[in-house]
Amino acid sequence: MEPAFRAIRDRGCKTVGIQFPDGLRLRALETAEDLERETGVTAMVSAQPTFGACDVPQMPVDLIVQIGHAPMPYLNLKKVVFVEAPMAFPPLDFLDATLPLLGRRVGLLTNIQHQPWFSKVVAYLEEQGKKVLVGGADGRTAYEGQLLGCDVHPAREVEGRVDSFLYVGTGDFHALGVALATTTPVIVADPFTEEVRNLAELKDRVLRVRHAAIALAQEAATFGIIVSRKVGQYRMALARKIKDLLASRGRKGHLLLMDTVSPELLQGHKVDAFVNTACPRIAIDDATRYEKPVLTFPELEVALGLKPWDPYPLDEITAQQALG
Ligand code: SF4
Repeated sequence: MEPAFRAIRDRGCKTVGIQFPDGLRLRALETAEDLERETGVTAMVSAQPTFGACDVPQMPVDLIVQIGHAPMPYLNLKKVVFVEAPMAFPPLDFLDATLPLLGRRVGLLTNIQHQPWFSKVVAYLEEQGKKVLVGGADGRTAYEGQLLGCDVHPAREVEGRVDSFLYVGTGDFHALGVALATTTPVIVADPFTEEVRNLAELKDRVLRVRHAAIALAQEAATFGIIVSRKVGQYRMALARKIKDLLASRGRKGHLLLMDTVSPELLQGHKVDAFVNTACPRIAIDDATRYEKPVLTFPELEVALGLKPWDPYPLDEITAQQALG
């Protein structure tokens, strides 16, 4: 918490808001107490869900401390301090099970919880005879090789020069984006479970669900176009473009402005399908929670016959797009 203590003292803050991702919420109240004791501020915990650095709430405080994420540099948020929360890492030989699956040229990827071990993993793989290629940070991400669920540019940067991607991190969320966006095999090495898996089967399963949603939306006459007010998810220009596109194709689009996108808040709207301009992963990872098809913009383009079904077009929010 040292970066937070320092920022609070340097700026003379009196009130501080704290944001935690779901997985770290158990530490929230204890952390608020620590901040109050160490710096004399009044601390308040955001009880809203927090999904990433894209998601900073309005809080009536001098400073917000977001735990567990790296900043999105292009957002340049002056009132926010990010405190990373790296996870423990096992001895590197758990990576040995990946070696026969990777080929010689490996695109190495990770997420923010495992970034501190990245250079050690590079060195280990190179000792085993692999040539490791790493894509750089792009302004939406802070570190080389760092993936977001909505930004797989480090993979795109080296795609075509690697035999496989190795994602070192927990869960499938970040690596699935790469599997969907590229045709290169994606291997996951999970430092928590020490499991190694290929994402080919998961990719096929997810693509079947996405194709079914696109097919259903082809028949839709009226769309709800979702726009989130979250600072790193706000894509109003895209939403307007979608509305115009739908009109040019004889369909209707209604703009729906919200903070957190949820099935409950979308119920009751008289539309046949939704197009989501907020977090691109809502349509993919939460599809079963929604009664009506929820498409990303590139998926809508497929439904309207403007893009081919194959390769699957992953929706991404890169810094370049957001600033453009
Ligand atoms: S937009 Fe979605 S995937 Fe991207 S950082 Fe935010 S929560 Fe994660």
